[in-house]
Amino acid sequence: MNNIAVVAEWIRQAKNTVAFTGAGISTPSGIPDFRSEESGLWENVDPQRVASIYGFRKDPKAFFNWVRPLAQKTLIAEPNAAHLALAHLEKTQQLKTIITQNIDMLHTRAGNTSIFELHGHMRLATCISCFKEYDGLPIIEQVLNDGLVPHCPDCNGVLKPNVILFGEQLPYEQMMGAKKAARDTDLMLVIGSSLEVAPASDIPLIAKRNGAKLVIINLESTIMDSFADKVILGNAAEILPEIIQCLELS
Ligand code: NAD
Repeated sequence: MNNIAVVAEWIRQAKNTVAFTGAGISTPSGIPDFRSEESGLWENVDPQRVASIYGFRKDPKAFFNWVRPLAQKTLIAEPNAAHLALAHLEKTQQLKTIITQNIDMLHTRAGNTSIFELHGHMRLATCISCFKEYDGLPIIEQVLNDGLVPHCPDCNGVLKPNVILFGEQLPYEQMMGAKKAARDTDLMLVIGSSLEVAPASDIPLIAKRNGAKLVIINLESTIMDSFADKVILGNAAEILPEIIQCLELS
């Protein structure tokens, strides 16, 4: 049996499959990841200056300038074949939940309903002074249009999209839910993540420690390949549909 057929068989046998996704699942939708060399997202910037909560408080303009191209691509992106494959697996009760590090909301748009978003999302934005929450998308659109730092209509504090920056705690309920899903799963599919961002990267290890099989689907090797029961190197938007095809034939 080839690797695709093996993983399809594992999904067929599993009682509780969970997917753990990263930026790599969304590159075929046109959203660059952070660590592939050609993404350019960290070129000429200091992540601690532009993408940390301390940097944001000091110089929100630098954050919005840096995030602009990513936000622009996210707003026009559509779910790709990999997102749609995971939605199909949930619909056919072969996938329990998705734990994602992505902020692009493409799993929701693809049709998945059980999702833990560990690093937040762009649906909402919060005032960093009075903590009032607003719809995030009109605020991002406004930043894309006028390039200005958005402010709270109530107190004039700066508005921050509900994405988790370096130095911020991960959302408690999302992390607790993800940890429970990792403890309960018997098969975890890690898709498109370098597994280098902690504490999210602990999640596959929790699954493995609790007896789950671990499958890593990624363009390149990751630091956790040695823990995996199966590593499939390649484009998630090709591999996941092949797995679905195999499942449907079996
Ligand atoms: P990462 O950038 O560290 O790693 C992405 C991995 O995906 C790389 O190893 C790359 O080889 C692989 N990859 C790229 N395209 C692929 C494809 N088509 N098929 C399979 N694998 C592919 O991403 P990460 O591990 O998610 O961690 C980075 C952080 O970046 C996360 O915190 C996330 O919040 C944030 N981020 C999110 C988005 C998004 O929401 N789409 C985009 C960029 C960064």
